This record gives sequence, structure tokens and C-alpha cells, in this order.
Amino acid sequence: MKVGVLALQGGFSEHVNHIKKLNHKAMEVRKKEDLDSIDGLIIPGGESTTMGKLLRETKMLEPLRNKIIEGMPTWGTCAGMILLAKEIGGKDNNYIGAIDIKVRRNAYGSQKDSFSVKKQIEFIGDAPQELVFIRAPYIDSHGDDVEELLRVDGNLVAAKQKNIFVTSFHPELTDGLDFHRYFLSIIERAS
Ligand code: GLN
Repeated sequence: MKVGVLALQGGFSEHVNHIKKLNHKAMEVRKKEDLDSIDGLIIPGGESTTMGKLLRETKMLEPLRNKIIEGMPTWGTCAGMILLAKEIGGKDNNYIGAIDIKVRRNAYGSQKDSFSVKKQIEFIGDAPQELVFIRAPYIDSHGDDVEELLRVDGNLVAAKQKNIFVTSFHPELTDGLDFHRYFLSIIERAS
């Protein structure tokens, strides 16, 4: 299995390392041709406006959207979740717009800009997980087909719709591999 990690900007190398630690191939995706040889894609955290601009400049936005709509398993963390959302609060346009959620950027404001919590998460397993939030978004509302996976303090921070998985937080910045293992299982089931 080969997992692509969008490598235009942001924290892609940590995702690459986590996938490699789980003994799967990881490939940095920088151009549209790269999309042809991967079985799934991780869109990392970073700055959604910058990544969105680069996706347009590299002419990757359309082919990427098509691949995701055709069913390629895709996981967006933080800015990646914003790029995948159909609606972005306060903005007229979206980017990839493939998952039926409305996100609020920088939802935690400046005071709690970055924080981490430990939580046991049913869909991941028994071990408590460290959840790292960095200028994180959360999901304000979503369509009926979207599965709610996790709320923290009442806010929806992980969700899934068909082949698309999104998290507000950054499992790649912790030592834990369980979220990456979960995403690999989504790819396995799809192929
Ligand atoms: N606040 C960033 C954005 O709006 C996301 C932050 C992150 O990915 N850690 O794109």
C-alpha cells in the first residue's frame, strides 16, 4: 500500500514518518501525476489559504477533487480538514469541497490557540490518545451523511463521510501511531 502525503506546505514530513513506522510506503505528493500511484492521501496541517493557493497554482485542485469524489481514501488534519470542507465559515468559496461539513477556522481563538488533551477514543482503541490542537478549526454543522466520530468539550473535532476522514487535531505530532493505523485500515477496506 502506498500512502500519499500532500507536500506543498505544512507538516507533511511527520505524517510520512508515521506511515513509514507502520511499515507502509509513503510518498510526498507535489504534482498531479503523483496522484496516479497512491492508494490514499493525507492532507496535513499548515495554512489552508496557502495550501489552497498552491493547489490552484500547481493545477492539482481539480484532479485531486475528482480522485477524492471517485473514492480515494483521504484524511485531512487541521488545515487539511478545512481544505476538504464544503463550507468554510466567513468565506464565499471552498477548496476541494468534498465532505459535507461547515468548518470554523481558528475556532478556539487566541487564548486557547494551541492546547492538548488526553482522551480515550472509542473508534481508535483502548489506549488514551494525546490530541494536539494548533490554531485548530472545528465543525460547526454537517450533512446527514456525515458520521460524528469525536467531540471534545462539546465541539465536533473528528468526522467521516464515506472515504473522507477529518480531524481538527494533529496525531502526527505525537508518538502514537493509532490514528495512522486507523487510516490505513480505511485504505485496506477500500482496496
Ligand atoms: N489555522 C490554520 C488554517 O486556518 C490551520 C492550523 C493548522 O493546520 N494547524 O489553515
